[in-house]
Amino acid sequence: MRPSFLPRLINGPFDDPGLYISFLFQKRALIFDLGDINGLPVKDLLKISHTFVTHTHMDHFIGFDHLLRVMLGRDKKLSFFGPQGFLKNVEGKLAGYTWNLADNYNYPLCLQITEVGPEFTRARSYRCRDRFEPLQDAVRKPFDGVLHEEPAFRISAVILDHKIPCLGLSIKEHFHVNIIKEGLKRLGLEPGPWLSQFKQHLYSQTDPASMFEVQMPQQKLKKQFKLGKLAEQIAQITPGQKITYIADVIYSESNIEKIVEFAADSDHLFIEAAFMEKDREIATEKYHLTARQAGQLAARTAARKFSIFHFSPRYIEQESFLYQEASEAYKSELATKQRKEESERSGYTFHNF
Ligand SMILES: [Zn+2]
Ligand SMILES: [Zn+2]
Repeated sequence: MRPSFLPRLINGPFDDPGLYISFLFQKRALIFDLGDINGLPVKDLLKISHTFVTHTHMDHFIGFDHLLRVMLGRDKKLSFFGPQGFLKNVEGKLAGYTWNLADNYNYPLCLQITEVGPEFTRARSYRCRDRFEPLQDAVRKPFDGVLHEEPAFRISAVILDHKIPCLGLSIKEHFHVNIIKEGLKRLGLEPGPWLSQFKQHLYSQTDPASMFEVQMPQQKLKKQFKLGKLAEQIAQITPGQKITYIADVIYSESNIEKIVEFAADSDHLFIEAAFMEKDREIATEKYHLTARQAGQLAARTAARKFSIFHFSPRYIEQESFLYQEASEAYKSELATKQRKEESERSGYTFHNF
C-alpha cells in the first residue's frame, strides 16, 4: 500500500516536538504541534491547512508567530485547534502585535480557532483585514471526539493529563484506495494528478454511473470512463491509514487506558519519551513518559510502527539508550501480549470441547 499521509517529525529528538503530515500527490499538509518550525521551508509551511496544538507549553506553541508571519497577506483560511483556554492563548498572541496596516493587504487571511473542552468545542474567526478582532462570539458545539472531517479522513482528539489538559491526536483515512498498476496498463493509462481526483470521487461516494475524464499527464489525450467501471479495473479498497501523535503525558491509569483505546491499531504511533526508566521519578514529577513506558504503550496499542521524540537534554549524546529502551519494552510487551492471547485462545478451544 502506498500511504496517503506522509508524516515526519519536524525536528531532532532533543528539539521542539511537532509532526508535519503531507498528503501524497497534493499540495497540502497538516501539522500536529507548533514548536520551533523554522526548519520547515516556506513552501512546506504554505501547504498547511489545519494546525493542531496538543497544549500551549512554549515548546509546542512558539511556532504560531512564525506560521502567522509566513501566511500574512495571503488568500488563505487557516484552522487551528487546541485545548481548553486556546482562544485566550491565541488572542493573547495576536494582541502582542500592532495591526494598524493590516487592512492594506490585498487578501484576507482568516484564522479559524477552535478550543476543545471535555464536552464542547468553542470556535471563533479572526481576519487580518479586521486587525484580527474576533468576528463574532464563540460558537459552541458538542465535542464527540472528532475535530475535523472530510470525505477521505477524520482527525480525532482525546483529552489527556499533563497536569493540564493535553490533546492526543490522530488522523485516520476512512478507507485506502490502492491503485492496481496492471489495471492501469490494461487500459493504457498513466499515473498522474488525475488519480487524486479519482480517489476523491470514491471517498465522496460519487455516483458510479457518472462519467470520469482521465487527463493523461504526458500526452494531451483525454479518456472518458464510467466511474464505477474504472474503479473495478484499477482500484482495490483496503483499511485506511492511521497516524497517532501523543505528546506530553504522565503514565497514569487514566492516560494509559485512554491512549490504548485512542491509538489502537495505528500504522504509525509518534509518542513522547522525555526520560529514561532510571529517571522514572522525575518523569512522573514532570508529567512525562519514560522511553520504556512509551515502548509499552506502543505495543499495547498494537502500533505497527512507532517513533519516540521529545528527549530531555540531560541525555544528549545518549539518545541510542532511549531508542534501545523503548524498542526492548515494545518487543517484550508484544511477546507478553501474544503469549496471553495464545493461552486465552487455547483456553477457549478447550472449553469448546
Ligand atoms: Zn508540556
Ligand atoms: Zn513539551
